[in-house]
Amino acid sequence: MSATADIGLIGLAVMGENLVLNMESHGYTCAVFNRSTDKVDAFVNGRGKGKKFVGAHNLKDFAASLKRPRKVMMMVKAGKAVDDTIDSVLPYLEAGDILIDGGNTHFPDTSRRMKALKEKGILFVGSGVSGGEEGALKGPSIMPGGAAEAWPAVKPIFQAIAAKVDGGTPCCDWVGPEGAGHFVKMVHNGIEYGDMQLICEAYSLLKNVAGLSNDELGEVFSEWNKGKLDSFLIEITADILKYKDPETGKPLVDFILDKAGQKGTGKWTVDAATEHGTPLTLISEAVFARCLSAQKDQRVEAAKVLSGPKPTFSGDKQKFIDAVADALYASKIISYAQGYDLMSAQAKALGWELNNGGIALMWRGGCIIRSRFLGNIKEAFDRNPKLVNLLVDPFFAKEVQDAQAGWRTALAAGITNGIAMPTMTSALSYFDGYRTASLPANLLQAQRDYFGAHTYERTDKPRGEFFHTNWTGRG
Ligand code: NAP
Repeated sequence: MSATADIGLIGLAVMGENLVLNMESHGYTCAVFNRSTDKVDAFVNGRGKGKKFVGAHNLKDFAASLKRPRKVMMMVKAGKAVDDTIDSVLPYLEAGDILIDGGNTHFPDTSRRMKALKEKGILFVGSGVSGGEEGALKGPSIMPGGAAEAWPAVKPIFQAIAAKVDGGTPCCDWVGPEGAGHFVKMVHNGIEYGDMQLICEAYSLLKNVAGLSNDELGEVFSEWNKGKLDSFLIEITADILKYKDPETGKPLVDFILDKAGQKGTGKWTVDAATEHGTPLTLISEAVFARCLSAQKDQRVEAAKVLSGPKPTFSGDKQKFIDAVADALYASKIISYAQGYDLMSAQAKALGWELNNGGIALMWRGGCIIRSRFLGNIKEAFDRNPKLVNLLVDPFFAKEVQDAQAGWRTALAAGITNGIAMPTMTSALSYFDGYRTASLPANLLQAQRDYFGAHTYERTDKPRGEFFHTNWTGRG
């Protein structure tokens, strides 16, 4: 078999098929292989018919069809399937070849695989790919990391197929070493959990406190999508709220069981935050909000014995809608500030140089969290690449300041009326804690010293000097 293919792809499920169709449409010849080889024929003779694909029934032919250095992308199920695929393709690769995992892999696995493959001279790249099936076909957000030597060879293909923003800037750039690409994709997914839950809380406030109908809610979200909240998730929320069930003619959303699922990437993000001691409160609450929603049967029983205030509303509806928009926007800023804080902690712990502004740009288009707001984050890191926290960037500090009054008004109304708002309230608590020079942790340190002789530092003595007190005077 002659080496004619620019890149090879293993894993012809929905993501793999769409990615190679995207590559082919940008002029690349792609070799394709799948463990169940009937899928190769089905693809080459189906969606790939008449296009520049080289279908292979075994990995020897697949590898032989690739131009050197070989570029092989795996789009298989995350976990054992990736290790199995690496084991089966490795005998046909040689030093200098590039192997890419584009699945939703947990980043420590990528770091492990990269190190093991480095010993064999294989350049391993772990790349987050976001945007679902449609993104894969029309332009995903791509977050590659790992062996930097692979980037010049992979860059033209990845940047060609990635989503474009601002007149052609690709939503794909090199993220960093080891599992950095998959780490950043994981944080992206965590932020997605946060953004979705925040929108749900805004919906709940407007529906349950102000009594807005679904059509009114749909209009509010459409309106919000024209301003600074402009984002894919706000846009689809407007569509969802306006959608009528063909069976009943009523809003479909009202018939959907309030029990959220999850695949685990949100939990991974929270695990990483606890590992580093980073206050990732909003995403954590978003993960737990899904857990609480999943306890549907318990909640139904609890609702019979536990009561709260009966929501009442007497104010100006438009003013309340604006306050909820402020709460949503300010909380969103907190979520991204926390997400970036986690990425900085990971980078610091592992000696990674992360491209913070580039990451915002990669998320700016193609993926589920794409939004206008990410352009502001990119600008903040352009202004100061070493920014410690988004909240102290002059733009975001002013934005939060401007939204603060509305944020508090909306949450006060939610609390008075008994509305659960775990992410919005945790965001405000984080904000109030972060902007407070003296927290009540002085008392906490005293308690720790009292029962465990953990010692404390004094504000009137140099830092690093530790004291212990016999609080009871007993021996
Ligand atoms: P998938 O259902 O996650 O995986 C199916 C593919 O994995 C098939 O090609 C299957 O081959 C292969 N596979 C499974 N076990 C294998 C093994 N032990 N050895 C070799 N191959 C094996 O497919 P997907 O939904 O297209 O997703 C691919 C990757 O992209 C996943 O990591 C997923 O998490 C990630 N991702 C998905 C989306 C999405 O919207 N679906 C979005 C972003 C990222 P057979 O046909 O032989 O079973």
